[in-house]
Amino acid sequence: MKELAILGSTGSIGTQTLDVVRAYPDRYRVYALCAHRSIDLLVQQAKEFHPEVVCIADESLYEQLKEKLSVFSGQYSSPKIWAGADAIAEVVTMPSIDIVVAAMVGYAGLRPTIEAIKAGKTIALANKETLVVAGEIICDLAVKHHTPILPVDSEHSAIFQSLVGEDRSEIEKILLTASGGPFRTFSLEQMKTVTAADALKHPNWDMGAKITIDSASMMNKGFEVIEAKWLFGVPVEKIQVLVHPQSIVHSAVQFTDGAIKAQLGAPDMRLPIQYALSFPERLASEFPRADLFALKDLTFEEPDLARFPNLGLAYEAMRRGGNIPCVLNAANEVANLAFREGRCGFLQMSDVISETMNKAAFISKPTYENYVETDKEARQIAESLL
Ligand code: MG
Repeated sequence: MKELAILGSTGSIGTQTLDVVRAYPDRYRVYALCAHRSIDLLVQQAKEFHPEVVCIADESLYEQLKEKLSVFSGQYSSPKIWAGADAIAEVVTMPSIDIVVAAMVGYAGLRPTIEAIKAGKTIALANKETLVVAGEIICDLAVKHHTPILPVDSEHSAIFQSLVGEDRSEIEKILLTASGGPFRTFSLEQMKTVTAADALKHPNWDMGAKITIDSASMMNKGFEVIEAKWLFGVPVEKIQVLVHPQSIVHSAVQFTDGAIKAQLGAPDMRLPIQYALSFPERLASEFPRADLFALKDLTFEEPDLARFPNLGLAYEAMRRGGNIPCVLNAANEVANLAFREGRCGFLQMSDVISETMNKAAFISKPTYENYVETDKEARQIAESLL
């Protein structure tokens, strides 16, 4: 029996993680549920899964959560109720927890992930921003504390699955696939006027709002290049992005002898989530199967950096190194939210990010405290540019 802490339990990855738990009640138990502010869903989840601890990131909702959870009747003792960022950073270190599912959105996922690694918990990592912001610190800590980091992101799960039984020194290239998002075939002119509602219509994947906008702008793919670099120890020059609109080949690895191994399947996040929880085993599932006879074409094209400059900015951030990927992430979080709120145009997001990267103070060997300062400074700069 594995005990889980799920950070971001009410989000897209969190709810699908609970689908996996529901299918395997004899293998997984929910020890802690943490959500940002979706209080009603959190209460509903607590009533179904009976965790020991329920945690809400937004402290102003603490009393309300307490009241809603107090209605538990006799058969089950009420969970402990915690609130705030400090509480989340503490809950992940509790002795009973085996696996921490890191599925919070954005920069907020960094600190609890660091604490969980230090406590030696296996990390099922969905929060790619953690590796974008502080990949070097995270990887050093994981080695030091012998903590496995298992990818939940579908592309990285595909790469990870392709690498089972292989020697990482024999990787020639990582082939990272991208759906291309809803604006794959749009002209620059058309992209000037797209709205958040247009961008939220992702062709293949059903995800949260922040990542769906990142997918439309291809910042998500830029982040995934950085994520792959840290997870698999491959320099970004050896990571090739391929636009593959069918989302069937979830990514691939090319080896030094020319062989390419890929993982294919229907686009369903529950499979990579389940694999991260069950690794090295595979568990039988009822998830939809990809019907290869029904597939007419599997196509691959080079990404167009003129229409999707964010992808180029991510490579640039890695080339410059230091705290610049942290700046990239902070500026993107500000621009992404501003776009969703109608305060920033679609193409303007890249301008804001690029200018913030040029204006923020450069630190070549950042510490955790430097990242905290950088994140704050970059957000201020990006806000001032809107
Ligand atoms: Mg992905």
